[in-house]
Amino acid sequence: MTAPRVVVLAGGVGGSKFTLGVREALARRGAPEATVVANTGDDLWLSGVRLQPDVDSLVYALAGVNDTQRGWGRSGDTERVNAELQAWGAGWPWFTLGDLDLGTHLARTGWLREGQTPTQVIERMSQRWPLGVHLLPMTDAEVDTQVELRDGSSIHFQEWWTRHRAALEPAAFHNPGIRDARPAPGVVEAIAAADVVLIAPSNPVVSIGPILAVPGIRDALRSAPGSVVGVSPIIGGRVVRGMADVCLAAIGVETSAAAVGAHYGARTGDGILDAWLLAEEDAGSADEVAEHSIRPVVTPLWMTDAVASGAIVDAALAAAFDAAGW
Ligand code: GDP
Ligand code: CA
Repeated sequence: MTAPRVVVLAGGVGGSKFTLGVREALARRGAPEATVVANTGDDLWLSGVRLQPDVDSLVYALAGVNDTQRGWGRSGDTERVNAELQAWGAGWPWFTLGDLDLGTHLARTGWLREGQTPTQVIERMSQRWPLGVHLLPMTDAEVDTQVELRDGSSIHFQEWWTRHRAALEPAAFHNPGIRDARPAPGVVEAIAAADVVLIAPSNPVVSIGPILAVPGIRDALRSAPGSVVGVSPIIGGRVVRGMADVCLAAIGVETSAAAVGAHYGARTGDGILDAWLLAEEDAGSADEVAEHSIRPVVTPLWMTDAVASGAIVDAALAAAFDAAGW
């Protein structure tokens, strides 16, 4: 199959790097644009505006306006409004909002207040910047992530991640209200129509976890007629970037490529994967993955640029076609 219909489940920065590769690999094949389902579990209200960090990471990266040096926000951004907010004591002193970034949040908040859904807001954002993918939020419901600490108290994920740099030991992650959330319009339909669903090498706990927790999405993956292929975010037993290891420890999963694959599980069992891409550094765990009835595929997993990510997507598509017996 040269022009597969592809769906991607993605978080922010890792999800963006991977999605640039998906766009590249599909364009090379003349395939239709992928549908990218973004985690919205990181979303929050701050100083009266709605932030959607993972959606914005994807939008900025796909539009080519992201700050690649810093790893978040817009390139060439300034912080005049942020300084003024801090002078007022508004917002969080440890959470910087760039001026251009605030423009996005104000536009989004205005449209939401006018009654548009997050799905419609993202559609509108992609009119300004054609993204080369069909970007959807996982849900239109307002869901956030609370980190339960060992003393029983809870704080917002962004406070735990950005202010405390994940240094407070988490007992659990919760997405209050997610049981009543529904997948955004088009999400389940896209999965049902896909030849391949790719799980980006995003944080398994706080990026992919919330997407899978939206009632209906896991079932859609389990019954999808296409193949489901995941990409390990762990290389050589380490998180490449960020603090996913702390998140994994909290849910009792070892920081290893095989353990994360087993955490997602095989579709032939009660999981979601047909195949799992492991880095060359983790070639030794391929057998362990196979023991979980997931097809292991060993390939370089460093997403240094869109071409490197595109090569990962090539390997994932090849694995999908093998798994489906094409
Ligand atoms: P966030 O929402 O911005 O935290 O980003 P994601 O959840 O989408 O992705 C974060 C994860 O990407 C990290 O936990 C890393 O394990 C993973 N990651 C980052 N760079 C790479 C890379 O080059 N290769 C692979 N395989 N994983 C990566
Ligand atoms: Ca995120």
